[in-house]
Amino acid sequence: MRIGVLALQGAFREHITILRSIGIEAIEVRLPEDLDDLDGLIIPGGESTAIGKLAVEYGLMDPMREFAAHSPVWGTCAGMIFMAKDIGSDQPLLGIMDIAVERNAFGRQIDSFEVDLHVPVLSNGDQAPFPAVFIRAPILLTVNEGAGAVTLARLEDGTAVAARQANWLVTSFHPELTGDNRFHQYFVNIVETANES
Ligand code: GLN
Repeated sequence: MRIGVLALQGAFREHITILRSIGIEAIEVRLPEDLDDLDGLIIPGGESTAIGKLAVEYGLMDPMREFAAHSPVWGTCAGMIFMAKDIGSDQPLLGIMDIAVERNAFGRQIDSFEVDLHVPVLSNGDQAPFPAVFIRAPILLTVNEGAGAVTLARLEDGTAVAARQANWLVTSFHPELTGDNRFHQYFVNIVETANES
């Protein structure tokens, strides 16, 4: 199995390190041809406007949309913004997932924070909370269940912060910045299942 990590800007090295630590071949994606022979793609956190601008410049938008049409994609933080169909403002987006996202939803005062998140779909998720690191994070305003999207985790106040739609996964937070690899394992399981079908 080979998983690519979009390496235009942001926290791509951390994803590569954690993937390799669980025995997955991980490669940096910068050009359309880097998508060839990949089984899955991760779009990292960083700055969604910068990622979008560079993706347009590198001619990656349509190739990534074509890739996503038949392969698993996981967006963390800025990556989640980039995958959303609706963010209420104008910037280059892949725009594949039926979610509405609000950028920088926790305001300027709260730059970053960590919470223990209940994520039932993870291995041992009911017993062991996931340490979720939020950095100038977006939230999910709408997860369109009619289109097949489901919420996977919420903050205590009910705010949705992780969702899945078929083989697409999004998280508001940064699982690559913690020692807990269960979200990466979960994505690897999605990729494995997609490969079998
Ligand atoms: N605030 C960033 C954005 O709007 C996302 C932050 C992150 O990825 N940590 O793109």
